[in-house]
Amino acid sequence: MSNLSSNRPASPGQGIVHIVGAGPGDADLLTLRALKLLRQADVVFHDRLIGPEILDFARPGAKLVYVGKAKANHSRPQGEINALMAAHAAAGRRVVRLKGGDPFVFGRGGEEMDYLLARGIPVEIVPGITAATGCAAFAGIPLTHRDHATAVTFVSGHAKDGEPDLDWAGLATGRQTLVVYMGVSTAGTVARRLIGNGMAATTPVAVVENGTLPTQKTVIGTLITLESLIESNGITGPALIIIGDVVRAAAANIAPAWSLAAAE
Ligand code: SAH
Repeated sequence: MSNLSSNRPASPGQGIVHIVGAGPGDADLLTLRALKLLRQADVVFHDRLIGPEILDFARPGAKLVYVGKAKANHSRPQGEINALMAAHAAAGRRVVRLKGGDPFVFGRGGEEMDYLLARGIPVEIVPGITAATGCAAFAGIPLTHRDHATAVTFVSGHAKDGEPDLDWAGLATGRQTLVVYMGVSTAGTVARRLIGNGMAATTPVAVVENGTLPTQKTVIGTLITLESLIESNGITGPALIIIGDVVRAAAANIAPAWSLAAAE
């Protein structure tokens, strides 16, 4: 841990943007690289899902800029975020662009990287624990399992026109686990399309809300009941939907990390 506190000054005039995955919520799931960069940052741009425990690691004196986007409430257009990051880096500052989960999994990290590189700004990408692996771990659901699934597919349930743009036939077949990000509001459509394309209506599903946080809620049902499962449990997100036989292997009594920390 010795070099955690090393505070290498940026070479004069040379700014950089570190696009950093912050993990799904629990601050203990940050990478050491993310922690080091936060401690050296001049400016931190952060999303809606980044909690205060994580922002507390930022160097005292670092400027924190909230650029969160809630669904249907785009507080700052992506173009404006890109331009702001570029301006700070061009002024020689060390910019940390903190994103929930992993920046390259439904995180627009690719778009931001392209924008910055096209303007000659150095970019580093720091991976993070994505919601799928974080939620699966904390819910005790293995994403692959020799008895249940030989593949896992991450899809976005986000829909511009009410219907996610997905390959339903491909997703409905095979021994695979399906993980749906941003799928709370379209869950009913997703379930109907999968069943319509041949997936068993009795396929087990789990919905994990606020995964890895002390407020985590995990509910388990079947594909045909997915929509009512979400409604009756008052799930409003952020939540992840896991569909597939692996949910049968869910450990009912997994010890959440925060309970172990409390017991230490
Ligand atoms: N880049 C992020 C995903 C951003 S999309 C990552 O790699 O995890 C936002 C979606 O991620 C949410 O709609 C939700 O489906 C999921 N998500 C993010 N954090 C979550 C959490 N703590 N619990 C459950 N789902 C989460």
